[in-house]
Amino acid sequence: MSAILQIKGVSKSFGGIIANQSITLSVANKQITGLIGPNGSGKTTLFNSICGTHPIDEGSINFNGKEVSTLPIPAVAKLGLLRTFQQTHIYGKLNCIQNMLISAKPKSDNLFSIFSKIPLDLNNEAEHILEFVGLYQKRFLRAGDLSFGQQKLLELAMALMNKPKMLLLDEPTAGINPTLINGIIDRLIKVNEEYGITLLIIEHNMKVIMNLAEEIFCLTHGKLIAQGTPKEIKNDQKVIDAYLGK
Ligand code: ADP
Ligand code: MG
Repeated sequence: MSAILQIKGVSKSFGGIIANQSITLSVANKQITGLIGPNGSGKTTLFNSICGTHPIDEGSINFNGKEVSTLPIPAVAKLGLLRTFQQTHIYGKLNCIQNMLISAKPKSDNLFSIFSKIPLDLNNEAEHILEFVGLYQKRFLRAGDLSFGQQKLLELAMALMNKPKMLLLDEPTAGINPTLINGIIDRLIKVNEEYGITLLIIEHNMKVIMNLAEEIFCLTHGKLIAQGTPKEIKNDQKVIDAYLGK
């Protein structure tokens, strides 16, 4: 299996805190890969480094054959690498369709121009994707009035509007009602299988990540301590001591 993302020797510090230390890993193309580790182990920092949120101190990040570690967020997004957040980033006062249209438009366009001349095919695409994530019936509801789980699905749908090659998902089931979790897992599997999108998922729910991922990486104190299949990770003594055993 070829790698779509190759991270080599990536380090990132904040003042005296070493959030990522010489991390080297590869994510297989069109696969679902997990990233686990205790709170503060540097998972979100690694996502931020990959997406261009902040510059890294050293190392290289190659996405689909291009070095992206020196690129800003919009340039990385343009190459087909997008993320969702631990806390959702949606426009609460706009309805679901409007959120979808905004995410598909260059950020320089103002809202009025987006909503005054919506191409029909873009609107259809937005409805189609909302149906895919199970939010079609809610399309005219204000995003702020959705449940937290539905907001996470909306954020996923907004990312899909941009036809990414790869999505980074930061704790997609955190804070979600257990009855909705299975729905999210199903959607993520479909995003991978039907849209052919590579997924890298930070997840604390071990049951969820064991079901989803073909390969899992584990971080502790900013360092990669283990990688392997879910079964290998579950039985890895370093992972048990640092994370699972607690
Ligand atoms: P995780 O997502 O695994 O919980 P983070 O990547 O959020 O961990 O954090 C790793 C470490 O880096 C923590 O000690 C955190 O406090 C620190 N950190 C992360 N982002 C920043 C920042 N912008 N400024 C200062 N410290 C940060
Ligand atoms: Mg985090």
